[in-house]
Formats: sequence, C-alpha cells, structure tokens
Amino acid sequence: MPELPEVEVIRQFLDKNLINKTIADLTILNPKSFVGNTDQVIGQKIVSFSRLGKQLSFNLSNDLILLFHLKMTGQLVIIKKTKTVLGHPTPKTNELSLPHKATRLILTFSEDTNLYFNDQRKFGWVKLLKPEELKDFQKTLGLDIFDSNFTSKYFYSQLQKSGRGIKLVLLDQNKFAGIGNIYANDALFLSQIHPQTPANCVTKTQAKNLHSYLISLMTESIKHGGSTAKDNKYIHPDGSFGQHQYYFRVYQKEGEPCSVCTTPIKRLKISGRSAFFCPSCQIKSNCL
Ligand SMILES: [Zn+2]
Repeated sequence: MPELPEVEVIRQFLDKNLINKTIADLTILNPKSFVGNTDQVIGQKIVSFSRLGKQLSFNLSNDLILLFHLKMTGQLVIIKKTKTVLGHPTPKTNELSLPHKATRLILTFSEDTNLYFNDQRKFGWVKLLKPEELKDFQKTLGLDIFDSNFTSKYFYSQLQKSGRGIKLVLLDQNKFAGIGNIYANDALFLSQIHPQTPANCVTKTQAKNLHSYLISLMTESIKHGGSTAKDNKYIHPDGSFGQHQYYFRVYQKEGEPCSVCTTPIKRLKISGRSAFFCPSCQIKSNCL
C-alpha cells in the first residue's frame, strides 16, 4: 500500500506536471470509486496538490477538493494522448496501455493529457468535497508525520495512552497519519523495539529514537522515489518504479541475515499484517 512517502512522491510529480491545467473531462468507469458530481469538476483548474497522511487532495479553482485515497493498489498515471508516457519510460511502462481493466476513472486535461486512476483491488476512492467537508472528513486522522507539531514529546505522550502492541499503534491512522507496514517495520528494527511491545512500555528514549527514525526513513524514501514492493503495484505517474525497496532494513526480508547481527529475520502475523524483525536485536519487553 502506498504510504506517506509514496503519496508524497506522487504529489510532487503531479505538482510539476498538472498545476494550472484545466480538467476538460472526467470519465467514471467504476461508479463506486467516485463520490460527487462530475459537473463540479469539469472545467475547473487544479490550483494545488496537498497531502495529509496517505490522502491526496487536488485543490480546484472552484474551491472544491478532489480527495484521493489509493488504499492497497491505487495508481495515478499520466499519459499523453499520443500514448507517450511522460518522463523516462522503463521497460515496464512500455507495456502500459491505458485505460485497462483496472482503470476506474480518467481525468482528461485540455492540453492533450490524461490522468488515469487505476485500482485493481477497488479499495481506493475519490471524493469531491467542500473545504468544510474535507475538514470534517479528516478530523479523526492523527498528526501527519511531517507536521511540525509531531514532536518526539507528542509522540511519546500518544504511545503512553495505549497498551496495544507498538506496531499496531504506529499503523493506526487515527493516532499518526501516514505510517504503513514498510516504515513501521523498518523504524522498529532501527530502534531495536520488538513489534509486539505494548506502546505504553516504550521508554522515553526509545520513543525519541523511533520518532527520529520514522522521520529519517520517510525522508530517505521520498528521495528514493518511494518503495515499489514485491507486488510492483506502486508506480510513479510516469510509470517508473520507486527505488527505496533496495534500502529496506527488514521489510520483506524474512530468512535473510540481520544487517547488525546476522540472525535470520523473522516474520510474524499481527492482526493480519506481516511484522518483520530480528529476534536478537528486537527483544520483546513487557514493562507490566
Ligand atoms: Zn539482529
């Protein structure tokens, strides 16, 4: 699933390519993927793109917002009508012919360019919202990891409020917005915290380290263009892949030697999601 860095990379890409472009048409191929009135989108310019956690806003000239959530398999791909992908096509992108069966929505721009929203699993969505509706919709989201109020002190105070396993708490978007499975696993490894440690047992020092690793890992990943994990679902709007998967610490590395102590990385299912960790470096602690 695209997490904060992946969505931010998409945002930056769209920002460079679609600002001030007019949406000439909006085609809905899967009605359940879109909530809103297409007439309020057609003819509008895109003023800016913004992001909160994993949610991406297209801010329109009529003050309405097209809010995207890519969920598990959502992609946003820009293709010129000449079928030339913008940017530098990789061999994979040469095979890309859109729309295809996973295309749910097409934004057509007057400058001969289409933006395709593809979503194989159909968990993703697009909603047209007024500013106050957006505010209301996002009010339960926790602080974005890059929000200036997301301090180490704040992070520690939030962890103190929950006895659930730390990894589950990190993934809870109502606590902190933007962290997903990749960065939760790798940040816990770097901080030497077992993923099942109760959040309120994480010490102040550990919380400080974890906070710092979350930010540094996500910053690093954005520089690498985000992570295209083993399912290859995450692609940039020009069809190319992210590169941060080559820098994973433990994520998707079950059985491989720990980079610190060479113990094989273990995988554990926690609430249906895979936790990857080093059983020697990340000792389970229980403060109670
Ligand atoms: Zn280790």
